[in-house]
Amino acid sequence: TPAVEFRGVSVHFGATQALAPLDLSVARGETLALLGPSGSGKSTALKALAGFLRPSAGRVLLDGQDVTDLPPHRRGLGVVVQSYALFPHQRVADNVAFGLKARKTRRADVTRRVGEVLELVGMSEYARRYPRELSGGQQQRVALARALAIRPNVLLLDEPLSALDAALREDMVAELLRLRAELPDTTLIYVTHDQSEALALADRIAVLRDSRLVELGPCEQLYRRP
Ligand code: ADP
Ligand code: ADP
Repeated sequence: TPAVEFRGVSVHFGATQALAPLDLSVARGETLALLGPSGSGKSTALKALAGFLRPSAGRVLLDGQDVTDLPPHRRGLGVVVQSYALFPHQRVADNVAFGLKARKTRRADVTRRVGEVLELVGMSEYARRYPRELSGGQQQRVALARALAIRPNVLLLDEPLSALDAALREDMVAELLRLRAELPDTTLIYVTHDQSEALALADRIAVLRDSRLVELGPCEQLYRRP
């Protein structure tokens, strides 16, 4: 059973087709990049996958189960969007604990897990800071820690580096590669308009254009290296 399967998933907003029928499977532990220019349907595909919107037709299956049949806390999804959207009035540790508390995790387990994931993203020293006291890259690491805290089966990253400057983006790509190696069973879906990020991170790339999947394959097949 694939970790994620789109079966004929299409999305319309009134007369606008935001996503043409999409068929796509992602294996457990695979990193798939959804690559395409602005307006090509990437976020729409991701929102259908996350169950944030209901497709006009088709189904999204997570481990064989229709996402819309699963309550949000049982979908096994971690989400990081481009605007890191940390809670400004909560310390880093409380931001990271958010999903765990929502799942009624015991306090001692919350504390331990928050420590683990802050360590994983190299932010242990910042647990008691507020988001405004952190750089953009640090905030994005905290957002990543928050998504990882619940041990997601599938991690959805929607343009996670687009708010960062070029040098920081390179550091974060290296960071994500390291994380991927440490979490071999986590399926990663990485939305980006940046071909070099997709090539650096993904096992396979799905190229969207005008709401349609136009290419799908391993990086080396789609973009032959010079
Ligand atoms: P991308 O993430 O690749 O930038 P989107 O999935 O956001 O693309 O958008 C795909 C298309 O659907 C675009 O033409 C966009 O304008 C349209 N669209 C997205 N969301 C909505 C919405 N809520 N209402 C109307 N049109 C939308
Ligand atoms: P955009 O693609 O336009 O930048 P986002 O990716 O930030 O937009 O997604 C915004 C939409 O997704 C909103 O409608 C919001 O309600 C929904 N959304 C994002 N994150 C979550 C979440 N964790 N839980 C529920 N809905 C979410």
